[in-house]
Amino acid sequence: MQVLVLNSGSSSIKYRLFGDGGDGGMTPGATGGVAAALEELAAGLIERIGESEGRLTHRITRGSTREEQVEERRVADHADGFDALIRVLEEAELISALAAIGHRVVHGGAEFVAPTVIDDRVIERIRAQIPLAPLHNPANLTGIEVATRLRPDVPQVAVFDTAFHATLPPHAYRYAVAEEVVTRHGVRRYGFHGTSHAYVSRRAAEHLGRDDLAMITLHLGNGASAAAIDAGRSVDTSMGLSPLEGLVMGTRSGDLDPAVVFHLVRQAGMSLDEVDELLNRRSGLVGMCGDNDLRVVQQRADHGDEAAATALEVYAYRLRKYVGAYTAALGRLDALVFTAGVGENDAAMRARVVDGLGVLGLTIDPERNTAADVHAAPDGVADLHPDGAAVAVLAVATDEEREIATESLQAVRAG
Ligand code: ADP
Repeated sequence: MQVLVLNSGSSSIKYRLFGDGGDGGMTPGATGGVAAALEELAAGLIERIGESEGRLTHRITRGSTREEQVEERRVADHADGFDALIRVLEEAELISALAAIGHRVVHGGAEFVAPTVIDDRVIERIRAQIPLAPLHNPANLTGIEVATRLRPDVPQVAVFDTAFHATLPPHAYRYAVAEEVVTRHGVRRYGFHGTSHAYVSRRAAEHLGRDDLAMITLHLGNGASAAAIDAGRSVDTSMGLSPLEGLVMGTRSGDLDPAVVFHLVRQAGMSLDEVDELLNRRSGLVGMCGDNDLRVVQQRADHGDEAAATALEVYAYRLRKYVGAYTAALGRLDALVFTAGVGENDAAMRARVVDGLGVLGLTIDPERNTAADVHAAPDGVADLHPDGAAVAVLAVATDEEREIATESLQAVRAG
């Protein structure tokens, strides 16, 4: 039995194929059941769809060996790309019984609060969410339409980035705007990165052997968000109506006074599209210092670059503020979890965040922090706190596609 996970962008398709291969060398002690049993069979990326020269990369895993195939050719459209990836997987004899295709969908609005088996009505309802996510949902839908047309025999499931945050209480998701603005225009906080926050919080709970934890998870990749999680339920999160709100990100500003938008339109003569582009693509780390890769920013700061040093401190200060706020939201704190590219790998940033938060009982062990390698840890979790610390500080390897595969299988079995 296999499950294929698709993440369709406007000009790309990222995929991973998992198989139900016994224990597959997975987590000892995991209570994830299905997740623990899934092993990766293949992964790949179809890029530059629709351009004159496309690129198809496939990585096929057989036991401990991995073989990579790269092909450069024009990929006319998403259907061409999907067809190509299915052919590669079939030629490699990796697909014998495809049990589900799981699709990442960025925005589920207030309507989709769980993974959903796709039919025509669901496609129409996802289409209806496009105004809430004009940058992401159209591409996700293209992937769904192509895959359901070309493989109508396989159950397909939409897994929403917003769904894990459907448990936010009204006082956390409500913006202080008129009721009409909420009901007519859907203006409220939804939150994103839900599959990652769900996966790492479960992994952390398994690692610590408790399911009643008050936890803050920090997903720090190119996009970044924080979540406050009480006994497995998301009770607050830093992204809002869109992924623009909250933490400082690679290219997004995160929190700012909404009047900045009026000011730029009225005083700087920018169009709304220009402001949108400025705040989503030319702000955050790249806006402050010209680089969006935290490794590069760190190196520059180490060599005395002031713009890079300022960018690092703005990034870390925003994180400390959110950890403080979410400790207050939870009323207690048992664990702080770092994940994604920066959270899993950047010991200096983790120390910068935690060292300022002794007042909350947070401490980090400098040696454990520097030596931590979540990817080598048997359960993907590294302890960063000193023995006997009041609050656990963990780095956890996220795996959004594995979580989508697990949730897709569960939805198909339940449906
Ligand atoms: P995405 O949001 O695109 O999935 P990732 O989770 O892969 O992003 O994170 C990407 C970011 O992680 C990079 O921009 C880089 O800043 C950071 N990163 C990756 N590896 C390291 C590392 N070893 N040290 C510091 N930062 C890292």
